[in-house]
Amino acid sequence: MLEPAYQADVVVVGAGVAGLAAAHRLTSQGVTTTVLEAAHGVGGRMATEKVDGFRLDRIGRLLSAAYPGPHLAPGLDGPVLLPYAPGVLLHSEGRRHRAGVPAGTRGARSARGALHAVRALASAPRAVPAPRRTVPAPLAPGGTVAVARPRTGAPLGTAVDQARLGAALTRLAHTPVERLLARPELPAAEALAARGLPPRTIDGFLRPLLAALLCDPDLTTSSRCADLALRAFAGGRPVLPAGGAEAVPEMLARSLPPGTVHTGVRVTSVATNSVTTAEHGVIRCRAVLVATDARAAAELLPGLRVPDFHPVTVVHHTTDDPPATGASLLLDADRGGPVAHTAVVSRVDPSRAPAGRALVSSTVLGPVPSDVDAAVRIHLSRLYGTSTARWETLAVHHAAEAVPAMRPPHDPHRPVRLLAGLYVCGDHRDTSTVQGALHSAERASAAILADLGAGRPMHTAEPLPAASAA
Ligand SMILES: Cc1cc2nc3c(=O)[nH]c(=O)nc-3n(C[C@H](O)[C@H](O)[C@H](O)COP(=O)(O)OP(=O)(O)OC[C@H]3O[C@@H](n4cnc5c(N)ncnc54)[C@H](O)[C@@H]3O)c2cc1C
Repeated sequence: MLEPAYQADVVVVGAGVAGLAAAHRLTSQGVTTTVLEAAHGVGGRMATEKVDGFRLDRIGRLLSAAYPGPHLAPGLDGPVLLPYAPGVLLHSEGRRHRAGVPAGTRGARSARGALHAVRALASAPRAVPAPRRTVPAPLAPGGTVAVARPRTGAPLGTAVDQARLGAALTRLAHTPVERLLARPELPAAEALAARGLPPRTIDGFLRPLLAALLCDPDLTTSSRCADLALRAFAGGRPVLPAGGAEAVPEMLARSLPPGTVHTGVRVTSVATNSVTTAEHGVIRCRAVLVATDARAAAELLPGLRVPDFHPVTVVHHTTDDPPATGASLLLDADRGGPVAHTAVVSRVDPSRAPAGRALVSSTVLGPVPSDVDAAVRIHLSRLYGTSTARWETLAVHHAAEAVPAMRPPHDPHRPVRLLAGLYVCGDHRDTSTVQGALHSAERASAAILADLGAGRPMHTAEPLPAASAA
């Protein structure tokens, strides 16, 4: 039998973090891989816009690095990951209170552990510059999570309430993931109410924190995913990749053999042994991995479920007189406006703003108000306790389908092998996070390698046909 002429062993559709991480795995096992990306750059939702010396992420926050995640192959020159100040600042009744600080030596260990999953992307992490902090982190007895500063008016109730919450978070940080995933599953809001915690603790701390971690203001997310997110928070610090979210996909793209990634190529249909593109006709291969967002995946693979999505809007401001909240993530416990969380991100990562300017990035969850910038400015002036009238708006990024909803029952290990030769990965197969996207890529590339019998010599890729003039 004549072997059909393949142009690659595997075609990966989509150059977000999932597609690029899968391509990295495949190429490092000698599997010739072509990544086709419809946009003109890599990164998908982890894009970073450059405006007048500012680096503006579309994703509002952080890599929640302690999610159970993949450990990508070592040997990559990875991005520097910069941690926020420990815990969060909660704004309530006109005051700010620090909460959720990992304590003592365990805190230091867990911050390292939290960075590990994503830092596994980086074999040689460079020194992390200490962020400037104007609010010192309180210490609690070793092995516990300090929940709030013991101040009058703290949003978390009495000292006993705070101690109970601290103990609950500490237990969570040490609970194995498998045990969390075996717990009964409810919407997170219902599960919180059933846990016997005081309403003040729930409304003053857990609700705003979980809303921020899950991009879900109504807490309809599966309680198991909420527990994973809280576990990640209790076990480590959120981080930002230095230079912008795009640093992670760019690092993955750089790790691939030259010529692997083709941008500006939109795939219009897929089969087990070929893809059809709008620009280059048919490309033959031995396997196809669809690594797009959930909606595009369902268009290419009819029958695939399209989830609901949580909309997210990120508003970027600049000022030459930044508020004194250090490198902290500030949450509004009172829900007194559209902003769910905000931070002076140039304090976490100075490279995101030109000298003498600060970058303040604020996230609005759910439907966006009509004059979002005005509403956000008013809210920010209350949260930071300073006038925002002279702040300059740099960008308003709205993503209607930012994050796939994870309502119960949520399966964080959706199948990634649809048929021999046809595979799918992306955050919609796992948890709706960067970590989930990476984890799904790991599962999908493992399935492809097993089916292709990796280890046997693969063929040499032919160049892609030239783009048609049409
Ligand atoms: C506003 C916002 C805030 C977020 N906040 C967080 C957060 O705080 N923490 C967190 O962990 N995660 C967050 N996320 C989610 C995170 O960004 C995603 O989970 C992750 O980036 C998904 O990666 P992916 O590779 O699965 O998909 P994508 O990044 O969507 O990549 C898919 C790629 O496929 C390409 N594509 C689609 N169709 C085709 C086609 N037909 N042909 C070729 N290419 C195609 C797309 O152009 C895209 O580049 C946020 C997302 C947004 C938008």
